[in-house]
Amino acid sequence: MLIDLHSHTTASDGGLTPQELVFRAENKQLALLAITDHDTTDGVALAQKTASKLTIVPGTEISTAWHAFDIHIVGLNIDLDNAVLQAALTEQREKREQRAVEMGRRLAKAGYPDVYEEAKQVAGSAPVTRSHFAKVLVRRGVADNPAKVFDKFLRRGNTGYVPNNWMSIAEAVKVIQQAGGQAVLAHPTNYRLSNKWLRKLVAEFASAGGDAIEVAAPQLNREVQQFVADLAEEHGLLASQGTDFHHPSAWRELGRGLHLPQKCQPIWQDWTHYEVLQSQTEAAPEANTAGKEGL
Ligand code: MN
Ligand code: MN
Ligand code: MN
Repeated sequence: MLIDLHSHTTASDGGLTPQELVFRAENKQLALLAITDHDTTDGVALAQKTASKLTIVPGTEISTAWHAFDIHIVGLNIDLDNAVLQAALTEQREKREQRAVEMGRRLAKAGYPDVYEEAKQVAGSAPVTRSHFAKVLVRRGVADNPAKVFDKFLRRGNTGYVPNNWMSIAEAVKVIQQAGGQAVLAHPTNYRLSNKWLRKLVAEFASAGGDAIEVAAPQLNREVQQFVADLAEEHGLLASQGTDFHHPSAWRELGRGLHLPQKCQPIWQDWTHYEVLQSQTEAAPEANTAGKEGL
């Protein structure tokens, strides 16, 4: 069963509309897909309405500030109508907008005018993110690809980087859980943290009451994945998996390349409210019995 618990639509910085994303996921035979747009849940309802074979997990991805890092916390199974959650997301989007204006100002000063205005156009009605800035700068030939733009302009210490004032990890965990959701530490190996800092991050996330950590992502080195799986086990965290799909590409596909190590406790193990998972949990004990008899 293909399960992908991290994806984006045009409601944030994804390239596909919620409908297009659902069509693609159904085409690729996914059973379960979480829509986790940055600081918004705007794409979820349309995706749910569009899905026929696919089950949509309502989600979001909240940016948080931790020391000098932007740490992302995914919320899964959230109640979309929760007023406290929606107020917190609105505040995040306002902060994002102010930050984007300041990024534009700094880039203009460095000789790249009107990047903010163009990034806004690219984003459309979605909140403007650094990815939109990267797209504009690639289009202007400043670098070959978005990753290079990030390295040159948009990371801490670069011309266009503006420190954030996102909510804390503990606040994000709390706001997700009070909306009935589970809090997941997103892509722990993407923050360029040393092992020592990664340990510290996971420990703090766990003591803030976090539920799970993304253990499986495409193209993750086995050794690195083992390290993350060990951390999850050490702190009693569940394991999640997701492609962080933004747009179709040659090296990343919805639901593909995700393999949780055997010892992990999948976050969806108790999601019996999803029909698609009921048959699976019922089938599991039988499989175990058969295995024991085999011994
Ligand atoms: Mn993104
Ligand atoms: Mn992220
Ligand atoms: Mn993401």
